[in-house]
Amino acid sequence: MAGSHLDLVLLGPVGAGKGTQARRIALKYGVPHIASGDLLRAHRSKETELGRQAKAYMDRGALVPDNLVITMIVERMRQPDAHDGVLLDGFPRTFAQAQALDKELDEEGRVLKVALYLEVPFDILVERAAGRWTCRTCQATYNYRVNPPKRKGICDLDGGELYQREDDRHEVVSERINVYIQDTVPVVDYYRARGILREIDGTRDIESVAIAIGQQLEAAVW
Ligand code: AMP
Repeated sequence: MAGSHLDLVLLGPVGAGKGTQARRIALKYGVPHIASGDLLRAHRSKETELGRQAKAYMDRGALVPDNLVITMIVERMRQPDAHDGVLLDGFPRTFAQAQALDKELDEEGRVLKVALYLEVPFDILVERAAGRWTCRTCQATYNYRVNPPKRKGICDLDGGELYQREDDRHEVVSERINVYIQDTVPVVDYYRARGILREIDGTRDIESVAIAIGQQLEAAVW
């Protein structure tokens, strides 16, 4: 039955805080957090064929081709832990991906309930992404100004090493924002037209954004 699933999408440009909030939402609502960027980075570190194909696109801030990303996400969504719902982070990023997601959910008798949209003005994004440090093992992110780890260079959650992603460099972040405007804003418009878009001010601190997301979800889903 479509009503018993909790399928959510978290949209927003690079540096909007998607990953940080997604981890919290997934924990609170008991749905798996499926982040396309994390999955692609895992493929790269395992040196799979997909990882090799994705590398050049990712390093220059371009999107990995739809067919590769869609296959990867659909495979992940078919695993047992995803049968009652998913929280997708970083997917869909193109209109074709949004259509593929609708099709996949529809085949399971499911439907997307909410698309949460974290809004942050573009000038703030470059600064945020450039100050970002990511855990090599669990992909949690920190920022030395607004969200520092307890110990320098070490992840609070699992003690993993923190590193700066190659694609968080200034010029690559600018390119990722351009790609976002061109390819992902149409996805935002698509969900807005469907009446499932919930817009959240992502410029506030992590706690306030988490509270705003919780309120939007309670109002939209229950
Ligand atoms: P992220 O960690 O979400 O910022 O993603 C890092 C990079 O992975 C992006 O800049 C893209 O090159 C690639 N990527 C992640 N998700 C997608 C997607 N849904 N479609 C195409 N490329 C993606």
